[in-house]
Amino acid sequence: NEISQVDFHSGEEFLIFGIILFGGFMVKVRFAPSPTGYLHIGGARTALVNYLYAQKTGGKFVLRIEDTDENRSTKDMTAAILEGLEWLKIQWDEGPFFQSERKELHQECALKLLERGFAYRCFCSKEEIEERKKRLENPAEWKYDKNCRAISKEESDKRAATEKFVIRCKIPEGKIEWNDFVKGKISFNSSEIEDFVVLRSDGSPTYNLSVVADDYSLGITHILRGEDHISNTPKQLAIYKGLGIEPPLFGHLPLILGKDRKKLSKRHGTTSVIAFKKEGILSLALFNFLASLGTNIDEEKCLSREEIARRFEIEKIKKSSSVFDYDKLLFLNGKLISEMDLNELKEELKNFWEFQEFPDDKALAVTRTRSRTLIELSKNLIPFIKEDFEYDESSLSKIDKEKTSKYFGQFIFHLEKISEWIQDKIEQELRGFAEEKGLKAKDLIHPSRLFLVGKGESPSIFDLFYAMGKEKSLRRLKRGLNFIKSGGKDV
Ligand code: GLU
Repeated sequence: NEISQVDFHSGEEFLIFGIILFGGFMVKVRFAPSPTGYLHIGGARTALVNYLYAQKTGGKFVLRIEDTDENRSTKDMTAAILEGLEWLKIQWDEGPFFQSERKELHQECALKLLERGFAYRCFCSKEEIEERKKRLENPAEWKYDKNCRAISKEESDKRAATEKFVIRCKIPEGKIEWNDFVKGKISFNSSEIEDFVVLRSDGSPTYNLSVVADDYSLGITHILRGEDHISNTPKQLAIYKGLGIEPPLFGHLPLILGKDRKKLSKRHGTTSVIAFKKEGILSLALFNFLASLGTNIDEEKCLSREEIARRFEIEKIKKSSSVFDYDKLLFLNGKLISEMDLNELKEELKNFWEFQEFPDDKALAVTRTRSRTLIELSKNLIPFIKEDFEYDESSLSKIDKEKTSKYFGQFIFHLEKISEWIQDKIEQELRGFAEEKGLKAKDLIHPSRLFLVGKGESPSIFDLFYAMGKEKSLRRLKRGLNFIKSGGKDV
């Protein structure tokens, strides 16, 4: 047998060699989602890390859609993945390439493996394999028993003319190991890996073959993907070796877990990128949040995409899993809402705003600091626009109706006299009036708030008066007072 003891090294030495040889070296990374579902947090994070690494190194970021599983891949899901990436502004430089359109290339690779003696035809039928499997003490531990490895080339060629066969990769004796640039050295014994199928009997390539053929032909230098792919890597390295080509470098990213430290899933709430958009999360906030998962980026506020790429250090990706903390995402989103350019915020808000009239800058300024999502922001803004709201029952019940009926008319009269309608002056008037009448400030503040926005919570009452403007404020206070005086009827 031509393959004896071989140790594989996917190592920096090849890349360094490449730099010396060609006098220049460009990082080329890829994101290779299977379009069998929406773009989720885990996938988006993988895409982002690749994107940031390309940005940081002046390299290229390739998008490849792995749509070979015809039963599970759909065009809609491909569109949804592209939509998610576009919304996050994770911009690819090349592609999207579609794996399903590259079948011929994959088949060529299988034949090349065969030609070079690193693969062989296997004529065992499913039934035969089942039969042999059953004979094992523990059938679950079955690995293909290399039965057809022993068939000579001549016999194999002859049988191929009339019999059905698959092509299997020959896993060499020894160890398959690589220096993972996230996880460090990873080593597999070849006894752990079976002679897996690279080409099915119908001529269709299997997953690992397609990935290698595509990564190689696209010139990928670094493969950054989820650690759930670690078990595929020794198989892919065996294919690289068999094709006689240098493998790229591999880095496997730790998974993202829910707060209960279990694998992130629907149980943990929203995980699809577009669903976050619908919940009023801003793209830059999610970008920042994803960039902070298990990396050296850890900020209390949102950075620009460029700044993140500048600071990002691939060497500092943590080896252990990181936890998806929705509260942190909300925190970052709220921070961004309260600090971002006001015109940009207005543009974002339009997608969540359903009234003709749009809130003015003053209203936005006092509400945005209290809103963690665009949905919250739009809810907080509604009272500035909507006139005929009802009063919240529970807040209404807490109001001292007697005092309100007795003093509120005079209070309104005092407010009417204010010529410069700003927070300080309004506060001065309110506190002065309360003192004069032996009231507490809250005896005026609580009803005022209820009359202005219909509920018990709002920005600071003085901000609220200010942002609503004098005319609208006084109109609403009068309506409220009449409501109380008439014993709970709008008059
Ligand atoms: N298509 C694979 C997936 O969606 C990724 C393959 C790879 O990154 O090598 O999980």
